Amino acid sequence: MKKGSHFLIGISVVFSLLGCRSGNGVYYSVTDFEKVPKIDMHLHYNTEDVSYLKFADSLNFRIVSPNVDAGEMPVDRQLEIASTVRQKFPEKFAFFGTFAVDSFGRPGFAENTIVSIDKSIRSGACGIKIWKNIGMVLKNSAGQYVMVDNEEFDPVFDYMEANEIRLIAHLGEPRNCWLPENEMTVDNDRRYYSRHPEYHMYLHPEAPSYEDQIGARDSLLKKHPKLRFTGAHLASLEWSVDELGKRFDQFPEMNADLAARIANLQHQSLADRERVRNFLIKYQDRILYGTDMTLGTNDTVYSRVTSGMRDTWMNHWVYLATDSLVAVKALGGKRVKGLQLPRDVIDKIYRRNAEQFFSMNQ
Ligand SMILES: [Zn+2]
Repeated sequence: MKKGSHFLIGISVVFSLLGCRSGNGVYYSVTDFEKVPKIDMHLHYNTEDVSYLKFADSLNFRIVSPNVDAGEMPVDRQLEIASTVRQKFPEKFAFFGTFAVDSFGRPGFAENTIVSIDKSIRSGACGIKIWKNIGMVLKNSAGQYVMVDNEEFDPVFDYMEANEIRLIAHLGEPRNCWLPENEMTVDNDRRYYSRHPEYHMYLHPEAPSYEDQIGARDSLLKKHPKLRFTGAHLASLEWSVDELGKRFDQFPEMNADLAARIANLQHQSLADRERVRNFLIKYQDRILYGTDMTLGTNDTVYSRVTSGMRDTWMNHWVYLATDSLVAVKALGGKRVKGLQLPRDVIDKIYRRNAEQFFSMNQ
């Protein structure tokens, strides 16, 4: 090898360690990962064991944990855990409360739900999460599915709208949910629906369609134009940045998180990297970083859990912040080129948007 090429390699390494500068943008590098302050705003922290929070902090991550009405842990217990962790580490941890819908249709449902929302907010919640059970599980007394724009919910969302309480909503599912396994675009969906056939809507043609779910959510936002709204999981429009962009244009109070849908973005990247990159730059004020990792349930081996957290976070960082190739397990190991978003875009997606929307400024 000639002497000159050693010199050039040396220069490029130095540049990537410093965070390479080119054109108008200034970019982060892989080695910036630990030192840049970040927020994972969708991580289910279902334990009072704060060691994982301390681990996150060692990588400069703060955590926002959404409680969920999924029937796995009682809503009150989730609130107790979240408010305990928040009291211990208010500067590192925030959470969304939730409410149960089992008494839907009975007298006093809306009033009782508002009482439960107030309790969450008084306990320190930065907003309220609702889940896909609305639209996919909940039925009225006539046996019909209840969608989120059902009028019985109106007083609840009117109240949240009037009191500026943020709603984070996992409504519907990825479009893959309505497809047979062999037509799904990402392996994590294939795995999830093979384990949860009850939610694999391809198997349940009598249930509302994908379009019904998206339509009900859009109708909720039309009815409550001032409602502060975060669409979890790329607002279930993970298959098309264009479709999500249309909703952002239509609903100014709407933003969306990336939780558990980065592989779907990467799938779009393989077809058209610039389209995905331009979308994230155009809507840099509307996108929030989150993973949907869940702590405190099955795996309790600290070293295994924390190395999994680190790998997940690092893989996403390489994809979003650098132009390196990332091998994506959910795409059968295909290598996807990183988007190398400018630093200020990364800062918004990873921290500033969450700080603003969830009042997390320190
Ligand atoms: Zn989640």
